[in-house]
Amino acid sequence: MSDDDPWDTDDTRAVRERLAALEADPANEGNPLMGEVRWLAEKYLHLAHQFERVTRISDRQQYELRETNRELAEETRTDALTGLPNRRAMEERLEAEAARAAAGAPGFAVAMADLDRFKTINDRHGHEAGDAVLERVGRALADGLRGYDIVARWGGEEFLVLFPGADADAAHEAAERLRRAVADLAVPWDDTTLTITISVGVTPYRADDTGEICVARADDALYTAKEQGRNRVVVEA
Ligand code: GH3
Ligand code: MG
Ligand code: MG
Repeated sequence: MSDDDPWDTDDTRAVRERLAALEADPANEGNPLMGEVRWLAEKYLHLAHQFERVTRISDRQQYELRETNRELAEETRTDALTGLPNRRAMEERLEAEAARAAAGAPGFAVAMADLDRFKTINDRHGHEAGDAVLERVGRALADGLRGYDIVARWGGEEFLVLFPGADADAAHEAAERLRRAVADLAVPWDDTTLTITISVGVTPYRADDTGEICVARADDALYTAKEQGRNRVVVEA
């Protein structure tokens, strides 16, 4: 090992210095044990070097393991088709928002959006066309959000939007913009263009809501929007 060995440590330096000092000492000249001392010192330096290498490999593996875990956690919270947060991720966020609101923080509102007559797209153009529409709608919703609002793919053809800090009016206005943005989409498919609309149910957080209760109310409003003819926003204030 050279003096500028990158694996040099205080211990290996001390051993090499001690060995050099012993060998330089005239009192040790001709001492047959000096050969043994040198052999032991080199053995030690070799093992120290090996140990250093193993430590490095294990450090790298731990780093890689952490990265893999992070990626896995990310994947289990992301919808594969749209790249949006999935239902699990949104449920966690919702319950956190509800807990914060219950503790006195500003409330929030949610919007449940469902594609209108989506089944006919699958039936007429195939499942892949349906997937393309879903992906495009997800992108339009995400692009149409402001600041802290988040959208998740809640189920097959349902998206849930969370508007932190919003009241019913603000969420209504935002949902209406999202509805129009989706209605304006033209999704190219084969030699045709697919269009789609969404119905949306909006509701604000109410005292004592859990995230689940709040979403159930948004679902009721969505059902009303479907009943009233689709491509509309209904608010359950
Ligand atoms: P409505 O306006 O009442 O919501 O009518 P709809 O046809 O949209 O509703 P329905 O519940 O009858 O059908 C939903 C369809 O969505 C059926 C299902 O095959 C389709 N779907 C759900 N998830 C996916 C998906 O990931 N990809 C595709 N291509 N289709 C999906
Ligand atoms: Mg549905
Ligand atoms: Mg639908």
